[in-house]
Amino acid sequence: MTSVVATNQTILVVGGGIAGMTAALEAAETGKQVVLVEKNPYLGGRTVQLYRYFPKMCRPSWGLEINLRRLKANPRIQVLTMAEVTGVSGDKGNYSVDVKLSPRYVNENCTACGECGKAATSEVVDEFNYKLGKVKAAYLSSDMAYPQRYLIDPSVIGTPEADAIKGACKYGAVDLDMKEESVTLNAGAIVWATGWQPYDAAKGTFGTASIVYQHAGYNDYYPSFSPDGKWLLFDESTEDAYDNATAQLKVIAADGSGVVKATVQNVSSYVDTSVVTLVPMANATTPAVYSGSSSSLYGWRCGSTTDGTTVGSKYLPGSCRG
Ligand SMILES: Cc1cc2nc3c(=O)[nH]c(=O)nc-3n(C[C@H](O)[C@H](O)[C@H](O)COP(=O)(O)OP(=O)(O)OC[C@H]3O[C@@H](n4cnc5c(N)ncnc54)[C@H](O)[C@@H]3O)c2cc1C
Ligand code: SF4
Repeated sequence: MTSVVATNQTILVVGGGIAGMTAALEAAETGKQVVLVEKNPYLGGRTVQLYRYFPKMCRPSWGLEINLRRLKANPRIQVLTMAEVTGVSGDKGNYSVDVKLSPRYVNENCTACGECGKAATSEVVDEFNYKLGKVKAAYLSSDMAYPQRYLIDPSVIGTPEADAIKGACKYGAVDLDMKEESVTLNAGAIVWATGWQPYDAAKGTFGTASIVYQHAGYNDYYPSFSPDGKWLLFDESTEDAYDNATAQLKVIAADGSGVVKATVQNVSSYVDTSVVTLVPMANATTPAVYSGSSSSLYGWRCGSTTDGTTVGSKYLPGSCRG
């Protein structure tokens, strides 16, 4: 049974993304007792799922690591993961909050050694990576997952595979008898930081390869493939993109190999409707070969007649190199 101390002096933060973590930390550091409730198996929300962060193209771990250090050092914050708020009643100063706790099947003894993952034979959808791949049925959501504790997928519970997973753990951390629980928490105030849902690109024309941007500058940092090679992402700026409020993030659809065929529009009657081919480059001379994972690129070759581009360079994107 999960034990959480919460009274009407407690601040409950719902959502363990960057907003919820920050709210929880700020409240706890002023002396308040805080319960942080997150439905995922890990904290960090969408931020931890990203590869690079605009505008400085930092890795999310660089910023999160500081918050996690503050959080681990603060005894006033109780963190509940795999915990979803399902109902709120009461009023200012005295709320009752219903929380559903899903079983992780792994307790606090876990050292994240990974032996249970080796013993697992089946695979499940990788929710952390936007369902783009599969993971073993005993897994850690990501290298920087907090808490650093493995998770066993419910689909294997009750099978010989679950017994093998348990047998592989020499720390007594696998608990196959864990059950879903419901708890009701008391709180004096609630911070609702449950984030947002991204637009489903399949629903509309978002990302159609039909736009070429006029030559705007040279600071098109880190064009990157999406993990499935179907998108290219880059930032475009008239000057240094660092701290430049006019910098913009662009996403263009590719054909799976990374090559983009784009139609010029709204630039000039001389070139509108012309097709430009953008070939992602590994360096100044070698086209990049999509290798099955998200990776930074040198830039694009989009002014080359070899690729079928006839539009003058002054109409090409700032990201074109060659
Ligand atoms: C593809 C993509 C690229 C992005 N790129 C950038 C970028 O380059 N630069 C930039 O500044 N921003 C970027 N963003 C935006 C940025 O990631 C988000 O604005 C930020 O993560 C929002 O943080 P948040 O804490 O508000 O929400 P989230 O990160 O969405 O966190 C909300 C959390 O609440 C939890 N939750 C929801 N409902 C409940 C419930 N009932 N009970 C318990 N928990 C619940 C969710 O599981 C989640 O973990 C990007 C976003 C996406 C999707
Ligand atoms: S559950 Fe056990 S075997 Fe699996 S990572 Fe944790 S400590 Fe290692």
